Amino acid sequence: MPAKEKRMIVMRFGELWLRGKNRSDYINILLGNMDVKLSGLKYRVDKHYDKIIIRPSNSSFKEVLRRMGFLFGVSTYEVAYETEPKLSSIVKDACRIMESADGNGAFRINAHRSYKQHKFNSEDIVRKLAAAAEKNGIPLSPREYSREVYISVAKDFAYISVQRLKGLGGLPVGSSGRCIVLFSGGIDSPVAAWLAMKRGMEPVYVHMHAFPKASEALGSKIANLIEILAEYHEAYRTYYIPTHRFQVAALKTGRYELVMLKRFMLKCAEQLLDREKSMVIVTGESIGQVASQTQNNLFSEEQGISASVIRPLACFDKTDIIEIAKRIGTFDESVKPYRDVCSISAKHPVINSDPKAVLRIEKEIKLDSLAAAAVKSAEIADGSVS
Ligand code: ATP
Ligand code: MG
Repeated sequence: MPAKEKRMIVMRFGELWLRGKNRSDYINILLGNMDVKLSGLKYRVDKHYDKIIIRPSNSSFKEVLRRMGFLFGVSTYEVAYETEPKLSSIVKDACRIMESADGNGAFRINAHRSYKQHKFNSEDIVRKLAAAAEKNGIPLSPREYSREVYISVAKDFAYISVQRLKGLGGLPVGSSGRCIVLFSGGIDSPVAAWLAMKRGMEPVYVHMHAFPKASEALGSKIANLIEILAEYHEAYRTYYIPTHRFQVAALKTGRYELVMLKRFMLKCAEQLLDREKSMVIVTGESIGQVASQTQNNLFSEEQGISASVIRPLACFDKTDIIEIAKRIGTFDESVKPYRDVCSISAKHPVINSDPKAVLRIEKEIKLDSLAAAAVKSAEIADGSVS
């Protein structure tokens, strides 16, 4: 195995190649996010056209590699060893790396030159390496392989990798602006927030709480969930908005209570759009998941709201949402008990709400001024740790 100092991480971008002229802006956002994510660790970075090479210190290597798995905008990242851009060095080092690689079974060889002026080409690498591997008893198969070796040759250096990992994909957080996430602390809204981040939106969390004081919500699983999501991207800001005034007014709304509550939440989020320079509200709703999430209700709730209301989970089955929640690490916290405002509102909500009735009730209970007053008395927490 080549010396540890020659070890590096090669990171490739997700969809950024689609971005044409804006590409470098996206890469700079990705690099900025990476800097924040790797803070406290020692590493150097070289930016190339189609990849970023990170050279962590030996003591930071493992942790840098771990954190790369939480960075949106990365399609793959691999542990690679640097060698000279000479055929003999590449073949010698590749054989040693393949011999000490984890796992069993045959290798497939992948060779690529980004610099075409060397005296050898990719086919020469494959041919020479195949001959050397055979001599050293390293199994190879172009079709029935369980391991792969990747060789890339640039102008001044080459590198070899037998460990290519899949990144999160998506776009760097911030590259698609900000969004206001209605965040309940159930299973769905943390997954919706994660998917919004994956498409490059930086979340501003809004939690509507049912407590007399925000401190109870601040010290609850809501803050814990935001901290779990901060492993992917440090939270920018969270609003804890009280609902007690609404709850009093809503006593008159009968089976429309839940629909009015959702509309109240959207109205509160709408009021934050300008302040947070956003045009998007994200919710964790899924069509038909519960009786209240019908086409009628979703329409009645969002009519006239001046934002794009995006529901990343609209067409997901609950089992698929749970699978993502488990994978991203929010599930266990999401299922802990919590006195959410939805759970204390009227049972048997209206299913086919009449949009006109919603507008009439909202006037009667002065929903706009209730929302303005609620937002005014919000508790604001900046960053992830509240
Ligand atoms: P979740 O698992 O996210 O709680 P759910 O299936 O329980 O979702 P609802 O309780 O009807 O569904 O909530 C639907 C969506 O409304 C949530 O995903 C969230 O976006 C928003 N929401 C619900 N309660 C709150 C709250 N207390 N604060 C902010 N947003 C909320
Ligand atoms: Mg809920």
